Amino acid sequence: MKKTTLLYEGKAKKVFLTENSDLVIQEFKDDATAFNNKKKGTIADKGVVNNAVSCKLFGLLEKHGITTHLVEKLSDRDMLCKKLDIIKAEVVVRNIAAGSLVKRYGFAEGTVLDRPIVEIYLKDDDLDDPLMNESHAVALGVATLDELAVLKNRAEAINAVLQQFFTERKLMLVDFKLEFGRHDGAILLGDEISPDTCRLWDLETKEKLDKDRFRFDLGGVEDAYSEVQRRVLELD
Ligand code: UDP
Repeated sequence: MKKTTLLYEGKAKKVFLTENSDLVIQEFKDDATAFNNKKKGTIADKGVVNNAVSCKLFGLLEKHGITTHLVEKLSDRDMLCKKLDIIKAEVVVRNIAAGSLVKRYGFAEGTVLDRPIVEIYLKDDDLDDPLMNESHAVALGVATLDELAVLKNRAEAINAVLQQFFTERKLMLVDFKLEFGRHDGAILLGDEISPDTCRLWDLETKEKLDKDRFRFDLGGVEDAYSEVQRRVLELD
């Protein structure tokens, strides 16, 4: 399948139309941004890692009956996907307190949550992706109540599969962000799941192996990404 025109260029990916109007190609870039574009940089080979990790995890989810936009991995940086009508929501699942949960609610970082917290944010950079409740999401026309229930259930099911997978690889799945879209009347998981969109800590040392190394200038960013790739892909 060949790329035709560029449909959209985001912070970490380009999306191309293809000869098949139902399919797009996501091309993963090395560009990194944080704090809503206020911090910019590049992480060598991040695109290769994120494509490989995302394809692996989406394939795993499919095996567990969770539908995704993945069709196939085309090359190092390219993922062939079903074209979605993207739902303008970012669904975040949290198992351990970190990031904005610590900032906003005063949890101590590292607190293990009794049950996962699911949050929905409005996907809108101009508004800094505000946290929404269901009423906001419905009022804004982001999704219907029924769709929101599907997103929450799906996010919890994905969390259960990923938590087990990462634990087997000695990684703690602290939190992660998902995006969904509509396709032929169904809701599919879209976007990516990678060290850009998850917090992953080494199970024993609690070392951060994700984008927080870039966000907070912790050093060893490339090594952390390739360590995640190694554990996700090689430890089968
Ligand atoms: N996240 C993301 N994109 C965003 C915001 C958050 O991928 O635009 C991910 C982030 O990497 C983390 C989780 O969602 O794994 C929760 O992020 P949080 O709300 O703590 O915000 P952050 O501190 O990352 O801005």
